[in-house]
Amino acid sequence: MKYIIIGTGVAGIAAIEAIRSIDPGGSITLIGDDTHGYYSRPGLAYYLTGEVNDKLLFPQIAAEFRRFQIHSIKGLVAHISPSTHQIDLQNGSSLNYDRLLLATGALAAPLTVPGAKLPGVVKLDHLDDARKIMKLARRGKAAVVVGGGITALEIVEGLTACGTKVHYLLRGNRYWSNVLDEDESHLVQNRLTEEGVVIHYHAELKEILGRGLVQAIRLVDGSVIPCDIVAYAIGIVPRLELARQAGLAVDRGILANEYLRTTNSDIFAAGDTAQVLDPRSGHMILDSLWGTARDQGRVAGLNMAGKQTAYIKSLPSNVTRLAGLTTTIIGAVGKGRDEDVVGIARGDSEAWRELPDAMAIQTAFDINHVRLLVGERTLLGAVVMGDQLLSLPLEKMIAGEADISPIRSKLLASGAAIADIISDYWIGWSKLHTS
Ligand SMILES: Cc1cc2nc3c(=O)[nH]c(=O)nc-3n(C[C@H](O)[C@H](O)[C@H](O)COP(=O)(O)OP(=O)(O)OC[C@H]3O[C@@H](n4cnc5c(N)ncnc54)[C@H](O)[C@@H]3O)c2cc1C
Repeated sequence: MKYIIIGTGVAGIAAIEAIRSIDPGGSITLIGDDTHGYYSRPGLAYYLTGEVNDKLLFPQIAAEFRRFQIHSIKGLVAHISPSTHQIDLQNGSSLNYDRLLLATGALAAPLTVPGAKLPGVVKLDHLDDARKIMKLARRGKAAVVVGGGITALEIVEGLTACGTKVHYLLRGNRYWSNVLDEDESHLVQNRLTEEGVVIHYHAELKEILGRGLVQAIRLVDGSVIPCDIVAYAIGIVPRLELARQAGLAVDRGILANEYLRTTNSDIFAAGDTAQVLDPRSGHMILDSLWGTARDQGRVAGLNMAGKQTAYIKSLPSNVTRLAGLTTTIIGAVGKGRDEDVVGIARGDSEAWRELPDAMAIQTAFDINHVRLLVGERTLLGAVVMGDQLLSLPLEKMIAGEADISPIRSKLLASGAAIADIISDYWIGWSKLHTS
């Protein structure tokens, strides 16, 4: 069997591991156009702040990789001919496959205002982007960051860590309003302000000004902010060009069934590029998270090698850092539309929106913060900021649909010690439900 994997991200690598687990002899070719190959893309945020070095960014050392016995090619795949099972690279070479995986990921949604092509306008997709930002960022320079989600905030923090004066533009009146509640947004905003970031609310970028280099930006309200760098993270767009050209069905992503098969039975799709049937909800889901890409890549790999394994979406759960505050977002916490993120916001999976609204209770002390979404009989979601002691118990209890009837009224009582109540309940529940 000849397998070709396009994309050296986590979905592609997970697929290779899965194929090898059941087909030790098949030929696997991995093709990617990122010259650095496989590295942790979430790690780029910490690379920018200087907390992660080159070595830590690459989770797999070459020797480990060699055990998969794959043929690796650096280059751009320009064309797929499903009828002849052939792919063509931009460099003119061609290869044949029996099974093909499109794990081509997604790119930052482009900024389209006048001046967006000026040098000094940056985004954060790849390692080279991070290096470019670090090269531009200096003490004494000023930057404007546009976008309301996690990546924009990561760029804000990276630039601040480099000593750059940052102006952060938010379209609405608070940060990440479709996921965080008002208190959580304010917590993040206050910390940014303390770090010297200037937040501009209700600020919409109109144009970037400069000749040859960025000199300033102008907002829709006419105000001008002088700056040397403009960074944007306004959503992501799956890379669909190959799938479209090959005649595969696409919507917002490449459409794939629960076995990660596209509309061509020998071509599979996984990761940020794929829009996958969730058998539980019956919806086609775009879910642009590292863990999802890894899980989908694994399932696609198994099925490419002959298994019949369905991808079942696990509980959405994302650990991230917001203005230096470790934050875990579990299950159904968001509602409404994020005014600042266009396209597909990371962490904003559809499952969150589909779950019914539930009562929210919360507690906060210093910078530690927990928010629970309490349903009739179960917990539906949680946000844990700061101290992460409760993250794992909450994740397990939400995923395991723990019956919280015995503690529900205690949790909802005014002034309830939520952390203590959950911890006590967890001790008993985990003995019965976790191995
Ligand atoms: C800065 C940043 C921070 C993030 N933080 C988090 C986080 O905290 N938590 C979280 O869950 N997720 C996070 N993510 C998202 C997460 O990294 C992605 O969901 C995940 O990496 C997607 O993996 P993938 O394999 O689908 O695609 P990718 O990692 O994008 O890999 C796709 C690869 O395919 C290659 N490719 C595309 N087209 C072609 C072609 N025609 N020919 C050859 N090669 C091609 C691309 O160059 C790329 O290397 C973050 C992403 C970024 C950029």
